[in-house]
Amino acid sequence: MDRNEISHWLRETDETRLEALWRMADETRKRCVGDEVHLRGLVEVSNHCVRSCAYCGIAACAPKVERYRVTTEEILECADRAKEFGFGTVVMQAGEDPGIDREWMAEVVRGIKARTGLAITLSLGERNEGDLKAWREAGADRYLLRFETTDPELYRQIHPSLPGSVSDRIDQLLKMRDIGFEIGTGVMVGIPGQTWDTLANDIWTFRDYDMDMIGIGPYISSPGTPLDGALGVELKARAGKEQTPNDPLTALKVLALTRLVCPETNIPSTTALATLDPTSGRANGLLRGANVVMPNLTPSNYRVLYQIYPGKAGLHETADITRAKIEAQIMGLGRTVGRGPGTSPRVGRRESAQ
Ligand code: SAM
Repeated sequence: MDRNEISHWLRETDETRLEALWRMADETRKRCVGDEVHLRGLVEVSNHCVRSCAYCGIAACAPKVERYRVTTEEILECADRAKEFGFGTVVMQAGEDPGIDREWMAEVVRGIKARTGLAITLSLGERNEGDLKAWREAGADRYLLRFETTDPELYRQIHPSLPGSVSDRIDQLLKMRDIGFEIGTGVMVGIPGQTWDTLANDIWTFRDYDMDMIGIGPYISSPGTPLDGALGVELKARAGKEQTPNDPLTALKVLALTRLVCPETNIPSTTALATLDPTSGRANGLLRGANVVMPNLTPSNYRVLYQIYPGKAGLHETADITRAKIEAQIMGLGRTVGRGPGTSPRVGRRESAQ
C-alpha cells in the first residue's frame, strides 16, 4: 500500500468497493495479530489539566468542570478489578496534571505491579525526562501520547498552550522508546481543518515511526471548546471541500488503512467510535482491523467528570456491565479474549535485533 493508494481509499465512498478494504484489513489483522482481543482496563486518574487543547472538554480553559484526582487506594482497587476480570493491562490516563508528581505516580506503579503483575500503560501528557525515567524504573511498560495531526499549522492552532511543534511531540515519543517504553500514538479523525492529504500523511507517519500502539477515533465536538465555536468554523472554511468528516465511516477507513501499513501494531476499537455509533461502532472497529478494547474501570463518581466530549460510551455503566458487554461482543464476533499483556509482536523482534 503506497501513499497514493491510501489517499484513494480515504476518499472512497462506494460501499461495495469498500468491502475489499474491510476484507484486506481483517485478513491482515487475523494473520499478523490473531483472533485475540486484548483488554486494557482504563482508569482516568485525574481530570486536572494545565493545557488548553482546543478540542478537549477537560482542558484548563473548559468552563464548569468539577476537577478530581483518584486516590492511590482507589487506583489500586481498580487494578485489582482488572486482575480479577482477567485483563492483561492497566492504563492510567489523565489531563496534563502537575499534581501527579513523580514520586506519587512511581509509588502507584510499584503498587500495581506488586499486587497484580499486570502490564502498565501511562497516558499522562507531556512529561519531563526525569518523570518518564522514574516511572519506567518503577515498572511502567508503555506510554501513549497521540500526535493528533501531522499538519504543523493545524497542530499549533489546536494546541495553543503546548510549548513544542508536532515534530517535537514525535521526538518525545522516540525519547520514550529510548527510555524503554513501548510507545503509542494516534489521531482524531475529522478535526476541523484536517484535510484528506493530512490524514494520508498521518497514516504514513504511523508507518514511518513503527509505533507499537495506534489509537484512532473520530473527533467529537465538545460544547464550549474553541473548536466547537469560532475557531472550528474558521478552520473548516480554510479546509473547504478537502475537510474530512468526523463520522464513523471515515474513522473506520483510517483504522483499516493503519492496519494495512502497520500490520503488527496494537490498534484499539476506540470509545469515541462506540460513542458515535453505539450499536455497532465497537464491533465494526474489531471487524476492520482493531485487536484491542479498553474497558473503563474508573469509579462511576469520577467517570462522569472525565467528559473529554459529551455522551461518552459507557458513561453511566459499572465496570462489571462494561466488561460483560464487551466480552459478549468479542465472543459474538467469533474472537477470543486475549490473555497476558498483549504486547505487539514487533516489540520482541525489535528487542532481539538490538
Ligand atoms: N493528557 C493526555 C494527552 O493529552 O495525551 C491524555 C488525556 S487526552 C484527554 C486523551 C485523548 O483524548 C487525546 O489524545 C485526544 O485525542 C482525545 N480527545 C480529546 N478531546 C477529544 C474530542 N473532543 N473528540 C475526540 N477525542 C478527543
